[in-house]
Amino acid sequence: MDRRNFIQSTMMGMIAVGMPISFSSCNSSTKKTSSVGSGLKLSFKPYDLKLCHAFNLAKSSRTHTPDVLVQIECDGIIGYGEASMPPYLGETTESVCQFLSNLDLGQFKDPFRLEDILAYVDSTAPDNRAAKASVDIALHDLLGKIMGQPWYKIWGLNPENAPSTSFTIGIDTAEVVRQKVEETKPYNVIKVKMGLDNDKELVEIIRSATDKPICVDANQGWSDKEKALEMIEWLYDKNVLFVEQPMPKEMIEETAWLRERSQLPIIADEFMQRLPDVKRAAEAYDGINIKLMKSTGMHEAYQMAVLARALGMKVMVGCMTETSCAVSAAAQLSPLADWADLDGNLLISNDCFDGMKIVEGRITLPDRPGIGVLPL
Ligand code: MG
Repeated sequence: MDRRNFIQSTMMGMIAVGMPISFSSCNSSTKKTSSVGSGLKLSFKPYDLKLCHAFNLAKSSRTHTPDVLVQIECDGIIGYGEASMPPYLGETTESVCQFLSNLDLGQFKDPFRLEDILAYVDSTAPDNRAAKASVDIALHDLLGKIMGQPWYKIWGLNPENAPSTSFTIGIDTAEVVRQKVEETKPYNVIKVKMGLDNDKELVEIIRSATDKPICVDANQGWSDKEKALEMIEWLYDKNVLFVEQPMPKEMIEETAWLRERSQLPIIADEFMQRLPDVKRAAEAYDGINIKLMKSTGMHEAYQMAVLARALGMKVMVGCMTETSCAVSAAAQLSPLADWADLDGNLLISNDCFDGMKIVEGRITLPDRPGIGVLPL
């Protein structure tokens, strides 16, 4: 038995008992094997994402993000997926591995039964959105590879309509923000995380260095609607595109009050999870930020984008800190979006996939099937 066959047979054994596996198969080719018609095979392994900078939000700070890499194999073709678990969303490496261990995808012989497979995955336990997204992404990658087409083409989208991505500057000291502005040079849009006392100072520092448009993300940091309005009025003169989640997600009436008076679009992020939230968001927000780790993956994310458009709302595609796997999956949807915040792979130092690229600040989709990634 050669090394590759040994690894494959070891993997199969571990999958059979529902254990996370070692993934030297990250480098597996998509050559067909003798497992025709034997059903979908799911495998996964924990992977710790190392952040280039400590990531400071209004309510937390961290240097790592736990992650789980997923593969679904069918007839020798492998689809890649990923679950990223920033701690504030409540999922952990353990919960994701447990969820995936409990799945029986081997019952599905035909990967094109996408609706049936994802309905089954969704029905096995409530919540677990990142875990569900990892299966959804791997399945989409698999299907695209079988069809030989990238998902933006399958969805009928023009890749030239993909927007620029913003590059994020987290909450930090004035000195660090000054350095980080330097790092935003290759990008056309800067995203600023807010929610502390020095918000205005941070914007002034950025404005002293560049006049590029800024997206503001308050991460629910403003709980006084009058003060939030005052801040938005101040930001309006600073070439700001929109304000993301200015108030706590529970404050729907106050956000609706703010939206009526705001000169800048108000975008829902923490408020948004899945498809049913889009209609509710329309009551208080001008647009939605869609993230695969919350929407349970690409299938529902696409439906959310289409529904938001039909409701006359703005669409933004975002991400967590993720490898190029999940970021490239989200990028497939980006031609449908007004704005994109797909810099999660740029914020980590141990990306293990090659995928979508940022060229002159714009999202550039690779002409590869599925979600367009190659394991590194
Ligand atoms: Mg946000």
